[in-house]
Amino acid sequence: MRGVNLPPLREVIARHGLSASKALGQNFLFDEQLLDRIAAVPGPLAGEHVYEVGPGPGGLTRALLRAGARVLAVERDRRCLPALAELSDAFPGQLRVIEGDALKIDPHEEIGAPFHIASNLPYNVGTALAVGWLAGEKWPPEWKSLTLMFQREVADRIVAAPGTDAYGRLAILAQWRATAKIAMPVHRSAFTPPPKVMSAVVHITPVAAPRDVRMTTLEKLTAAAFGQRRKMLRQSLKGVPGALDALEATGIAPDRRPETVDIAEWCLLARQLC
Ligand code: SAM
Repeated sequence: MRGVNLPPLREVIARHGLSASKALGQNFLFDEQLLDRIAAVPGPLAGEHVYEVGPGPGGLTRALLRAGARVLAVERDRRCLPALAELSDAFPGQLRVIEGDALKIDPHEEIGAPFHIASNLPYNVGTALAVGWLAGEKWPPEWKSLTLMFQREVADRIVAAPGTDAYGRLAILAQWRATAKIAMPVHRSAFTPPPKVMSAVVHITPVAAPRDVRMTTLEKLTAAAFGQRRKMLRQSLKGVPGALDALEATGIAPDRRPETVDIAEWCLLARQLC
């Protein structure tokens, strides 16, 4: 598929009149080498299903198709559909495009087999989508990996380690049953138009969930604790039934602050409350 001859992305944009919409979080990537590097993050994709949110003019999509993936792409902006149809013709049988809102689509229903998720996410809905994929009841989930572009500050919160300012609910959600790493930083100048902030691609892969820990309990504890992150646990967890007893039972000192509690310790606490 590497031999498929495609017009440059700038030409595609110009020909289809795809001026970037701020409301739709449109910051396009044109550098095909960078796009191929992003498409390589999940590992070999030949024959693999990939779900892409927001293909836009199809920059990342073409890189995924070149890697041999079978792509389901969901795009909200109908102006992009003719450009994506051209891509579909260039890679017969590999690309299906749905016009719609990714917040309302269940990719598993559409694909019906395990899949990777890869996206240069629209920043306005990116965190909500990622939280939805990470917070699912079923584990391991239907997705095999997430390769997602975020604003650098959000990426740092996802991969944060205990004891850092960035460590909080998002880090715990992303890491209590998955590994999360920054795959590559991406300079703002790589995008058209360039956003105000830097970005990074995050790679997340599921691992076995700690036994007897419920997502809802973990979420309740971390919401209470990080909602008042300057306070000691004995104060911030007062309103969570059983939490103070759980601190005692697990030996986690009640005068600690939430950012000092590592993910294994949060899981111990949540297990006590289940
Ligand atoms: N993938 C392209 C690239 O890398 O150049 C475009 C990425 S751009 C950051 C985000 C894309 O998501 C835009 O094409 C935008 O129209 C689309 N989008 C925004 N909100 C969406 C939503 N709720 N559901 C699906 N697509 C959405």
